[in-house]
Amino acid sequence: MSIRVYELAKELGYSSKELVKKLNELHVSVKGHMSAIDEDTAEIVRHELLGKKEQEKKTQKSKKKVEEKVNPELRPLRIKVPLSVKEFALKINKSAAEIIKKLMAMKIMATVNQTLDEEITRQIASGFGFSLEKILTEEETLLIKHKQFDDGQGLKFRAPVVTLMGHVDHGKTSLLDVLRKSNLTAREAGGITQHIGAYEVILPKGKITFLDTPGHEAFTAMRSRGATITDIVIIVVAADDGLMPQTHEAINHAKAAGVPILVAINKVDLPGAEVDKVKRQLADIGLMSEDWGGSTIAVEVSAKKETGIKKLLEMILLEAEMLELKADPDRVAEGVIIESKLSKGSGPTATMLVQNGTLHLGDVFVCGLTHGKIKSMRNDLGERLEKAGPSVPVEISGISQIPMAGDKFYVVEDEKKARELSVSKNENLRQEKLMPAQRASLEDLFTQAQEGKAKELKIIIKSDVQGSLEALGSSLQELGTKDISVSIIHSQVGAISESDVMLAIASDAVIIGFHVGIDVKAKETAEKKGVDIRLYRIIYEAINDVRLSMEGLLEPTIKESFLGRAKILQVFKISKLGKICGCMIVKGKFVRNAELVRLYRNDECLYEGKLESLKRYKDDVKEVGEGLECGIGLDRFDSMQSDDIIECYRVEKIARKL
Ligand code: GDP
Repeated sequence: MSIRVYELAKELGYSSKELVKKLNELHVSVKGHMSAIDEDTAEIVRHELLGKKEQEKKTQKSKKKVEEKVNPELRPLRIKVPLSVKEFALKINKSAAEIIKKLMAMKIMATVNQTLDEEITRQIASGFGFSLEKILTEEETLLIKHKQFDDGQGLKFRAPVVTLMGHVDHGKTSLLDVLRKSNLTAREAGGITQHIGAYEVILPKGKITFLDTPGHEAFTAMRSRGATITDIVIIVVAADDGLMPQTHEAINHAKAAGVPILVAINKVDLPGAEVDKVKRQLADIGLMSEDWGGSTIAVEVSAKKETGIKKLLEMILLEAEMLELKADPDRVAEGVIIESKLSKGSGPTATMLVQNGTLHLGDVFVCGLTHGKIKSMRNDLGERLEKAGPSVPVEISGISQIPMAGDKFYVVEDEKKARELSVSKNENLRQEKLMPAQRASLEDLFTQAQEGKAKELKIIIKSDVQGSLEALGSSLQELGTKDISVSIIHSQVGAISESDVMLAIASDAVIIGFHVGIDVKAKETAEKKGVDIRLYRIIYEAINDVRLSMEGLLEPTIKESFLGRAKILQVFKISKLGKICGCMIVKGKFVRNAELVRLYRNDECLYEGKLESLKRYKDDVKEVGEGLECGIGLDRFDSMQSDDIIECYRVEKIARKL
């Protein structure tokens, strides 16, 4: 059963043109007045638009009257959003299947555990005759309260927070040590310093806070948890070695975060130092140095000879001045956890970076899933402090449990409030675990673009050779349209690593792997966090998928779920059957009728196909579990070797369209 747009328009009292516009606003894609809509969708549209018409009428009348005249069919529904399809179904006393059906009519594919955001919940609720009244979570109430402190009145300049990144052995640690020595107070204190994860350098012209866990992994891990704490990134490049893979990676991570980059060209004392070569390499990737007419500040330094350090510090302060970093020292404190540990004497301790306000001894706070009351505060020189203002890192004690790096902390009025908040956050977290967050994916790109949520498709490309990176990168970029642009935020030779997955989470990107595999840890994180990783062996297929996704035509979603992993212990040749591998199931299980298996050697995928046979001793079996040995044969493939890894997957096709 379906109805034409012009018929529905007539029924609802709209012109066809108006209705087409409204339908598009409701994400029902129709071309014109002769387009057909199915009855379910029409029903939702009726609810939605009749509700709107009522509201339009309402606003013209007095407020009191309006309340009485609210569309009688729309009953108020007070719930917390986001929530899962299942929870929503319970709240309105319907079956999850009914909700899913309505969602499908809106061209949204959902499972029972999927999270519905506020907008979708509102639409669906009205489809069922409810008007949504959102209950704020304790945390949202707290955030709103904290925002109220920001009246913009008491803003003062604060010190920049700086992270050093670069290739291993290029001198990050050495440089951090030297930078630390330039601290005026440190000199007075006789250089007894403690590692607390960050330190302040006080200079005649201002202060700088350095995070002393160098490396882009920590930086992006924090960012993937929603914490951006670095104002400036210093890329350290050894002048005798030039830009190396991790330098490129670090630069891309900093760029993806939108953090300004300064370059420290280190080890200029070495005879093999080639500063110009480094500058040329930088120019090649769009970081032309200032003396070459570009806008990137590159300072020549030597951590060993301690030269160029003063200039580097000056440049950091100059950059900070341009960034106009400000905070209000007179407000209630908030910030982020940089490190935490369990120490014998004082229980859990954590290094907090104050981002706004001033933290005082005795302040009560919530942080991550835990809470506490500041018992003591020390800086990196071991000095006891009574208060810490914006950009100051302090190690504190008085926390009930160890928080995680990247957790935000907020000072609250009393301990009762702090306890309540951490309970409600724990509850939210439990729920979050049940529902993986919605992330950028090729399948949803078109829908998200229509909803105005996606204007850019961010892609990370990993490949086996440099040549295909470039070919793929430029072809993908060309697919950009005026509505959705394509940007390659990172591309590199090598297997898909955990750092790539973190970057994808932090930047909402999808990952395309070409002739490469995925690290075990990266795979686990990606599965847990719902990162869209696609592996291809043919360039055209990768390009085609992205093109289709931009047009909303990407065919059915293929969902792969990992079943098990086996390691080949020995390979046997059996004349009739070809080669059979004697394997040990190291994780999960192998299932005879699984749709897909892959064989990896050193993270490189050499085979994709089906199981030919699965045996225990001489018998064919349906399933073999973890810790057991079995014989595995692969369909038309016999160049396996011992120590290769075989993985087994279930593949489901989920129809995207009705
Ligand atoms: P990181 O891995 O980036 O933290 O690098 P390190 O700071 O550990 O330095 C790696 C090596 O380079 C060490 O042996 C340092 O002594 C050396 N190194 C660091 N900076 C300089 C420098 O400016 N000149 C010279 N000649 N060696 C340096």
